[in-house]
Amino acid sequence: MLMRLGRWLRLLGQDVANPEGISDSELLRQAKREDRTIITRDNGLFQACRSAGVKCLFIRSCKISDQLLEMAREGVPLQLDPERCTLCNTLLQEFECEQSMKWECPGCKKLYWQGGHCRKMERMLEMIRSRRDENIRWYS
Ligand SMILES: [Zn+2]
Repeated sequence: MLMRLGRWLRLLGQDVANPEGISDSELLRQAKREDRTIITRDNGLFQACRSAGVKCLFIRSCKISDQLLEMAREGVPLQLDPERCTLCNTLLQEFECEQSMKWECPGCKKLYWQGGHCRKMERMLEMIRSRRDENIRWYS
């Protein structure tokens, strides 16, 4: 449900696990064990987290830019920081190639480099940052 947001959070340098095919109670145990915050749009899961004492963020929006804005308000820095593979969450290895920086995922071999899609993402983050700051002014 929040896969796209998860991939974005990895681009922002966050460690995002995406356990599949496990029950809610197993998910809660894993979050507790690994000291993770569960991000969900499922109100039932959110309530279960609260009663189990697991950190949880309830995402209201279904638009990716608004979801990122919600994360920014929770203190996630909106800076591209490609530390982890967006597909499998493995730590990337940086290397220099033809005078530019590239990153390779040792897990699934996906390659990352600074190119057009980076600039597009930077523009989107820029737009969200300005909205975040507007809202801070609005409420202060
Ligand atoms: Zn990977």
